[in-house]
Amino acid sequence: MASSSEAEILRVSQVIRDRWKVKSKIGGGGFGEIYEATDLQNHNECVAIKVESSKATKQVLKMEVAVLRRLQGKRHACKFYGCGRNDEFNYLVMSLQGKNLADLRRETPRQCFSLSTSIRIAHQILEGIREIHSIGFLHRDIKPSNFAMGRSTSNQRTVYMLDFGLARQFLNQKGEMRSPRSAAGFRGTVRYAAVTAHKNKEMGRQDDLWSLFYMLTEFIQGSLPWRKIKDKDEVGRMKENVDLNALLEDCPLELHQFAIHLKSLGYIDTPDYDYLERLLSQVERENGFTMDEPFDWEIN
Ligand code: ADP
Repeated sequence: MASSSEAEILRVSQVIRDRWKVKSKIGGGGFGEIYEATDLQNHNECVAIKVESSKATKQVLKMEVAVLRRLQGKRHACKFYGCGRNDEFNYLVMSLQGKNLADLRRETPRQCFSLSTSIRIAHQILEGIREIHSIGFLHRDIKPSNFAMGRSTSNQRTVYMLDFGLARQFLNQKGEMRSPRSAAGFRGTVRYAAVTAHKNKEMGRQDDLWSLFYMLTEFIQGSLPWRKIKDKDEVGRMKENVDLNALLEDCPLELHQFAIHLKSLGYIDTPDYDYLERLLSQVERENGFTMDEPFDWEIN
C-alpha cells in the first residue's frame, strides 16, 4: 500500500501520453494518488488523474475504470477521459471536481451542516447510489470523502461519487443476483460501515444505504456516537445496539422511517429507493427547503 511518506508516483510537469500535464497532487494515501492536471489537447482543461503503482499489491484501478465507464452519462459520475498503464503505473483520467464533503464539513464551525444542506446533499447521494446499483455494482465505501461537489459554475451544486476501488458486482452477466459468500473480508471505513460489513458478511444494496444513513446523521448532529472508538468490533456492537431515538435526537421523523426500511432488507432484497427519496422530499417539503437555496458553504 502506498503511503504519503513514499516517493510520489507522478511528478509536477510530467506529461502523460503526450496529453495530460501534471500540475499538483490533490489527494490519496489509500490505494492510489490523485493529481490535478491539464489537458494539452483540449484548451488546458483541468482534469483529475488517479494513479496506482504497477507494484501495488492490491490492484484496484481496473475495477474503478470498469465501473466509471459503465456509469458514463449518469448525473453523479465524473466524466471518463482515458486510462492506460506502463511499467511504472496504471492511470485513470476523469473530470476534476471541487471539495469533498468531509473537508466541507470540517470547515464548518460546529462540524455539522444545516438540516437543509444535509437533506438535500443526502438526496443527491441517494440518487448516486441508485445509479451505481442500477449498473449492477455496490460501492461498498460510501463516506463523505468519497463525494465531491462540482467545481464549475454549471455543476458546483451537483454531488459526484468518487472511488470505486472497493466496488463489487452483485449481478452476474444474466442480470441475476450473485450468491452471497458465507464469509467476506471487512471492506470499507469503520465509522460508516454497515453492521453486515462488521460481521464480515456479504454486503448488499441496503449496506450502501446504511452508510448514507450514518453520513446523514453525522451531517445533522455533527458526530456519531462511535466517532472516537478505534476497535472495529466495538463499533459494530454499538451500531447493532444503538437506540434510534437517541441517535436521531431532534432529527426529522422521516430518518427513523428511513432506518426502519433498511432494517427490513436482506442481501437479496431490492431497496425501495422511491420510498427513501419520498422520505427525503417530505422533509424538504415540510421545512420549505428549495433546490435553489444556497448550501452552507455558499453563504458568505
Ligand atoms: P483513494 O482510493 O486513494 O482513497 P479517492 O478516489 O477516494 O482515492 O480520492 C481521494 C481524494 O482525492 C478524494 O477524497 C477527493 O478529495 C480527491 N479526488 C478524487 N477524485 C477526484 C476528482 N475526480 N476530482 C477532484 N478531487 C478528487
